[in-house]
Amino acid sequence: MSHPPLIPVARPTLGEEEAAAARRAILSGWVVQGPEVAAFEEEFAAQVGAPAAAACSSGTAALHLALLSLGLGPGDEVITVSHSFIATANAVRYVGATPVFVDVEPATGNLNPELLPAALSPRTKAILAVHQLGMPCDLPRILAFARQHGLLVIEDAACALGSEIRIDGGGPESGPAGSPPPAPLEPIGRPHGVLATFSFHPRKVITTGDGGMVTGPPELVGRIKRLRTHAMSLSTAERHQAAGVVFEEYPEVGWNYRLTDIQGAVGREQLRRLPGMIAARRRLAARYLAAFAGHPWLLLPQEPPYGRSNWQSFWITLSPECPLGQRQVMESLKARGVDNRRGVMCAHREGAYRDLPLRMPLPVSEYLQDHAIILPLFPELSEAEQERVIRAVQEVVGG
Ligand SMILES: *Cc1c(COP(=O)(O)O)cnc(C)c1O
Repeated sequence: MSHPPLIPVARPTLGEEEAAAARRAILSGWVVQGPEVAAFEEEFAAQVGAPAAAACSSGTAALHLALLSLGLGPGDEVITVSHSFIATANAVRYVGATPVFVDVEPATGNLNPELLPAALSPRTKAILAVHQLGMPCDLPRILAFARQHGLLVIEDAACALGSEIRIDGGGPESGPAGSPPPAPLEPIGRPHGVLATFSFHPRKVITTGDGGMVTGPPELVGRIKRLRTHAMSLSTAERHQAAGVVFEEYPEVGWNYRLTDIQGAVGREQLRRLPGMIAARRRLAARYLAAFAGHPWLLLPQEPPYGRSNWQSFWITLSPECPLGQRQVMESLKARGVDNRRGVMCAHREGAYRDLPLRMPLPVSEYLQDHAIILPLFPELSEAEQERVIRAVQEVVGG
């Protein structure tokens, strides 16, 4: 008996264009952080409407450099979510600061701004706001709170390239008749906080293998560009272009977080595909939402009135009434040829964070980890494959 082929949860869209770009970089003779990376940075900044961008070796490195460039360190507290890939919390630890976890909203899986006052202390310096799985977090309220308390806001937009947000003017339904129209949606990464970070891991919307980007004001981005290359005072390109002999200096300790030019070239091709890939993701998510609407045992993700997701992932959450457990549903889907993953992890439940005292309980974060299931969604998922996923979910969970 042959089984139907397993439909994967995610698959990067890579083709001849990326292969040709990698070849171009390899044959150019300049393979690490050179002209392709510089062009990728410029094109990426233009894509999200950011003043400047710095590429680096991963989304984790991007977070680390962002926090470093802002001078966060020992004694500082950074409010963030436990309900995220562990890189979010780890980056806070890398600089010696302390993560303070707040719980999330059930419909978006993102930081619940109602809980910010309970997380605040005299040591709070920053909020690391995650746009989880591409779903915009409530930045309008997070930014207002941060302004009130003099806090920095860094956006972990690892999954959120192509997502959009509206900071001013409330939701589309807000305001009495005749009031000014709501502000337009803007790309996430402009940034709306002081800095935003992205990942190009193959699970994200564009990939360079591994890779990351920080967007923000030119002064901070310039500092990040130095920190990613051992804080060297002159870049390799600057020395290469100098008329005479110049010597570089190392005024402080930095890192090797460089992106290769081979990856930069691939990233530029991925950016060209971005609008088409986001449109495909949104079409597929809309079909899932329509197929599962009104199901008695499934809670569905919901876009907030202030933003639009890029649908980096689509997930269903088993409701408290559902008689089936998460593992049982996951195994039954897999047996039907539909690969899937559990919901986003919680850092506070891992050994690496077990000693960290919590400032509040995190029941929604834990509920989502234990009841959410990520379904296949990627630009090249065919309608027939998606039908198979939908049928499998309906067979397993009923409805
Ligand atoms: C993937 C991810 C990261 C880390 O990115 P890498 O490129 O894998 O280092 C950080 N934060 C979030 C929310 C992520 O999803």
